[in-house]
Amino acid sequence: NPFARARYLLAAHTPKQLPPDGGAEVAFAGRSNAGKSSALNAMCQQNALARVSKTPGRTQQLVYFELPPHEGKYLVDLPGYGYAKVPLALREHWQAFLEQWFQDRFALRGLVVVMDIRHPLKDYDLQMLGYAMRRGLPAHALLTKADKLSRGAAGNTVQAVRKQLSVPWGDSIGVQAFSGETRAGVDELRAVVAGWLEM
Ligand code: GDP
Repeated sequence: NPFARARYLLAAHTPKQLPPDGGAEVAFAGRSNAGKSSALNAMCQQNALARVSKTPGRTQQLVYFELPPHEGKYLVDLPGYGYAKVPLALREHWQAFLEQWFQDRFALRGLVVVMDIRHPLKDYDLQMLGYAMRRGLPAHALLTKADKLSRGAAGNTVQAVRKQLSVPWGDSIGVQAFSGETRAGVDELRAVVAGWLEM
């Protein structure tokens, strides 16, 4: 598993705090409670890796994890949407930073959008997918908590999401069922992200 040595590097609230933009990185987005931390932890075989992203005050930061021994390759945990209310001015500042980052970040190779398989494609998810699409970046829809549905129901949702995304996205999007609980789908997730990072 190329992600087993992942470790926290830094959290950035402004462009100056970002690591040099010369490597390769993959962003993870998801609404709060979607299961993003569990997915990152499962992918990296660590119990508490993504907990750092959840500490109060980190809700408006990009959290970078490095992937030794690969220098300059990162996983980037985007803050979950839907946390405690933030003053409007701060929220707008953050939105502007995030949008700019998506637009300009040379190292960005792809976006994983983590969604509860029972509630896929909400506004926030579509917004993040829109950012990636504007850049022509590939995306991967990770439909997690699949253990909460029967295999048939999970499969139907995967098909429905694939269908909805296929018109705008064509081949540049993947859709898969996943479970942080049972680890179902973790190999596919690792393969997609490792492929984007060329590692
Ligand atoms: P985050 O806010 O997106 O980082 O979500 P978390 O990973 O913290 O998960 C939110 C809640 O959903 C927690 O109670 C997790 O235990 C639960 N959860 C996350 N992934 C799964 C999953 O695949 N299956 C089940 N049954 N529960 C999950």
